[in-house]
Amino acid sequence: MTDLLPVFDGHNDILLRMFNAPQNREAIWLSGEGKGHLDLPRMAAGGFAGGMFAIYVPSAPEPGAPDYDALMENPPYAVDLPKPVPLDVAQGVALAEAGHLLWMERASGGRFKLCRTAAEIEAARAAGVIAGVMHMEGAEAIDEGLDALHAFYAMGLRSLGPVWSRPTIFGHGVPFKFPGQPDTGPGLTDAGKRLIRECNALGIVVDLSHLNEAGFWDVARVSDAPLVATHSNAHAVTAATRNLTDKQLRAISETKGVVGVNFGVQFLRLDGVKNPDTAPQDILRHLDHLLAILGEDGVALGSDFDGAMMPQFLQSAAGLPVLVRAMETAGYGKPLIDKICWGNWVGVLERTIG
Ligand code: ZN
Repeated sequence: MTDLLPVFDGHNDILLRMFNAPQNREAIWLSGEGKGHLDLPRMAAGGFAGGMFAIYVPSAPEPGAPDYDALMENPPYAVDLPKPVPLDVAQGVALAEAGHLLWMERASGGRFKLCRTAAEIEAARAAGVIAGVMHMEGAEAIDEGLDALHAFYAMGLRSLGPVWSRPTIFGHGVPFKFPGQPDTGPGLTDAGKRLIRECNALGIVVDLSHLNEAGFWDVARVSDAPLVATHSNAHAVTAATRNLTDKQLRAISETKGVVGVNFGVQFLRLDGVKNPDTAPQDILRHLDHLLAILGEDGVALGSDFDGAMMPQFLQSAAGLPVLVRAMETAGYGKPLIDKICWGNWVGVLERTIG
């Protein structure tokens, strides 16, 4: 344990796994169920010492929808976005997932703590306890009056993306397309701009991942916090709509913000194919590009564990040391690896949530 490098990860979807199979949550979390990417034993084995846990509302299956996975295995592809999710449906799902996260802390027997400040995250690390931060991926569960934002803040919410690609009352996201540009339509609505200001006032990170370009620039104009993309890669390397252009990366850098590298293979590989035959080099290529623009303080990890197809060498959190070794082999020094794996996330959280 002690020789493992602690990793803070910007994005995972284990709460969706629990929402889909609540009867299995003890196995999913405590013992591991032999599938998925995260559970307490494999997080401990890989040095996963903290992360942001996403509340995400899945879309209902639409009759006649194409096989999206098959499309992404054969670029070029362009996947339509699902319909918006109504507030009442979204709030029920989001409450259930928030409940799972609170249960995870209680059930962990002191191995996992839901943290509300950077100081709590550092204290958890010092005590050998895994730190969780509540995130919301897509603000479908927030009403236009923003009352629910305050309620979720009280539950522990400290990071929020106005959209998960699918449109909300707050803005528009990018449809999944490769190759494709992120400039795909209108940006934030007036309610979206109020949401950003309220997040600033409360101390909630505004997540740029999944926003389209117009929405990105609206956040950049309205927000007074460092710009953050929890799980996005470099568009100059992999030309997927979900990745960030150099111009966007420079804007994030100007605010001393952070980008977490997404391990989802279709956002990593040069050919944009959804194929797990993906090497550490594919992650390093993005890290190198992001480092060249954002500098050593602006790059971190944002796995998308339990939310995307992972590379073969990184099939769960237990594989994180392989990535750390690849960074060492590539000549990244220990101080830089420490920043990418831990310090940059905790630093930007300290500057935003306190
Ligand atoms: Zn995502």
